Amino acid sequence: MATTAETSVAAHPKFEPVIGLEVHVHLLTAAKIFCSCSTRFGAPPNSNVCPVCLGMPGALPVLNKKVVEFATLAAMALNCRINETSIFARKNYFYPDLPKGYQISQYDKPLAEHGYIEIPAGSGKAGDKKKIGITRVHLEEDAGKSLHEGFPDADEKTAIDLNRTGVPLIEIVSEPDISTPDEAYEYLTRLKEIILYTGVSDCNMEEGSLRCDANVSVRPRGQKEFGTKAEIKNVNSFRFIREALEYDIGRQIDVIESGGKITQETRLYNSNEGKTYSMRSKEQAHDYRYFPEPDLLPLVVDAKWKSEIARALPELPEARRSRMVKDYGITEYDAQVLTFSKSLADQFEQAAKAAKNPKRVANLVQGELMGRLKAKGIEIEQSPISMRGVAASADLVEAGTISGKMLKDLYDLSFERGKDFPVVYEEEGRPQQSTDTSALEKIIDEILAANPRQLEQYRAGKKTMLGFFVGQVMKASKGQASPQIVNELLAKKLE
Ligand SMILES: [Zn+2]
Repeated sequence: MATTAETSVAAHPKFEPVIGLEVHVHLLTAAKIFCSCSTRFGAPPNSNVCPVCLGMPGALPVLNKKVVEFATLAAMALNCRINETSIFARKNYFYPDLPKGYQISQYDKPLAEHGYIEIPAGSGKAGDKKKIGITRVHLEEDAGKSLHEGFPDADEKTAIDLNRTGVPLIEIVSEPDISTPDEAYEYLTRLKEIILYTGVSDCNMEEGSLRCDANVSVRPRGQKEFGTKAEIKNVNSFRFIREALEYDIGRQIDVIESGGKITQETRLYNSNEGKTYSMRSKEQAHDYRYFPEPDLLPLVVDAKWKSEIARALPELPEARRSRMVKDYGITEYDAQVLTFSKSLADQFEQAAKAAKNPKRVANLVQGELMGRLKAKGIEIEQSPISMRGVAASADLVEAGTISGKMLKDLYDLSFERGKDFPVVYEEEGRPQQSTDTSALEKIIDEILAANPRQLEQYRAGKKTMLGFFVGQVMKASKGQASPQIVNELLAKKLE
């Protein structure tokens, strides 16, 4: 869930970190970027391959139009400027899972530039925002996978699965605007949320659909120039990225304070130990010798195509939250929870609009549903009571059919039985609050007789005692009575 960070290292008095993030996101197209092979995850190894993605000599890439549309949509959602012309380039390196010996990527002319994501600033309260710049969003193809286990002779051999070769990726590169591990965590959370809203990726980190590398350096506070950076690669959760950054910032400060020098290098994070380890130093780093891909034309996304793509741009989470706060009178926090996923927000809004009183739906979500979810330790997406169920219950209260107390009891039953509200309501025989006035009048008579002192005070002019009597009657009716009717009957009796 999109929560603010619960841990953070205290800011160092002398040094400040500078963090930049590179995020790779798989695009959910059915076919690969330069051939028509399937992108489906989990297919038998080397079954989704063809001469193009195997890098056979003479095979030519053909750009998948859908990939361009998805990438452009994501870049728009990240507030980027879309370059009308972008150029594919060859990034040359040798690796066993890269059959061509180069990756088709984009280099000096990427698809999109100059975007940003807003994250909560400082305490995150009072709507304070900080803009994290996005340098660029570019298109590229993924490489294959080296397998080190799960097949015979795995202890002696490495196997290669090329199903992933040519799966479309966007790389999203941030400006070095991030100054704490918590901000990095927030940035990634927002980024993922925005991409999920556009529907161009499932951002599934376990399946490698979203991967993140972090660049981190430290510099004395007030210094303009950046320190030497370390690149932390292949961390597979946002929480681990925050931990890895916290560790490495501490490590770098220790090195500098003890008179040492930071070496530019790639490091890996070991989440069991909570430490980063050097993988390779800059001297061993690649020289990619980029040059324009001769087999592909420049990519042109003209104004017409751009506006067609823009039509698919949904209302984005940040805008939706502000609107929901306004439309339903809910808090920022509730809006945050209710926009956790696009489908949940859609469900809520559908329910709220279908209900007689949308605000009551919102109130029930924040007042009755959230507390129970929290007590059970489950997310709203696992809630036994659906948004439709909340809307149904809101209508019953609105119509005076059930009381607030009855609703609470029915919600408790829903959670006990793991069933939606309408089901439990039926199971309980469609209970109704008592509007049987003769039974209520009897209760009222008893209450008045049992509280002569309060009755005297009321008669003496202390009209606030009415509330006391209403409370007593509600209690005696075990919450089954309609407060409205109790009020009316009491008023009549006391006259
Ligand atoms: Zn292929």
